[in-house]
Amino acid sequence: MKIAFIGLGNMGGGMAANLVKAGHAVNAFDLSEEALANAKDNGCATFTDAREACAGVEAVVTMLPNGGIVKAVYENDVIGHAPAGAVLLDCSTIDVATAKEVTASAEAAGYDMVDAPVSGGIAAANGGTLTFMVGGTETAFTRAEPVLQAMGKAVIHAGDAGAGQTAKICNNMLLAVSMIGTAEAMKMAEKLGLDPQKFYEISSQSSGYCWSLNAYTPLPGVGVESPADKDYQGGFATALMLKDLRLAMEAAETSGASTPLGKHAQELYEAFATENGGLDFSAIIKTL
Ligand code: NAD
Repeated sequence: MKIAFIGLGNMGGGMAANLVKAGHAVNAFDLSEEALANAKDNGCATFTDAREACAGVEAVVTMLPNGGIVKAVYENDVIGHAPAGAVLLDCSTIDVATAKEVTASAEAAGYDMVDAPVSGGIAAANGGTLTFMVGGTETAFTRAEPVLQAMGKAVIHAGDAGAGQTAKICNNMLLAVSMIGTAEAMKMAEKLGLDPQKFYEISSQSSGYCWSLNAYTPLPGVGVESPADKDYQGGFATALMLKDLRLAMEAAETSGASTPLGKHAQELYEAFATENGGLDFSAIIKTL
């Protein structure tokens, strides 16, 4: 397929490279010259105009920082510029309301569109092992699926437009809460004189089992290897976790959902991110 890819940053760069590896012809557009130079090295054709990148393609993929940018890019450069009949895939993490609004505009102009945010960080984007949670009609999902398969290990149809973003923010709210809970339990065990490694061995095989403990242990030298063992460098940045928690709390408010722990997690990450936004989100354990 001929595919336009807009937003080739930390995540989009690797994703576009995987589309090329899968045999697709990729037209790359980004505001950053460095991102475009990398895309060129990875076999993409590069463009300095988003509309030109969208000309003649069968699909458009976007991986952009936030909802405001996604809306502007679709309204100004994609809708009405990509050929009628192209399928549109927004893989950015954005608010549910904007995702639904952009899809409605695209559908009104005759396009099929999905919101398809990802789970997995930069390593998964580079390795082609992302999980995509997809919102959109059955037809849009069926058309988007082969494009997403080339960049991920799992592609799941979550429901109608916006359902992908809903799944993403609910998942990440759960992750934030479980990480703080794991960190609290590990530090308390230590304070009470229990060897943290013993606590890990016991709890990871007991009802405390969870991804934060078992697959991402937040204490250095304990449990599995994780960003904690690299001084909390790399991994999933605190600033990005905070972005997702803000989106989750916005959605909780508009939907009337009760999320006391999600709200408290956001407050803790707001305070922590002021000076530590670049550290992996498991570094929140340092505050306990
Ligand atoms: P990034 O900042 O590295 O990349 C974003 C890219 O978009 C940049 O290259 C930037 O120049 C480009 N851009 C900005 N405005 C543009 C415009 N108007 N037109 C064209 N290009 C534009 O961010 P990232 O880490 O790649 O994240 C992208 C998205 O993926 C975000 O929504 C983020 O929340 C989500 N995400 C990131 C991770 C992660 O671990 N980094 C994990 C899951 C989801």
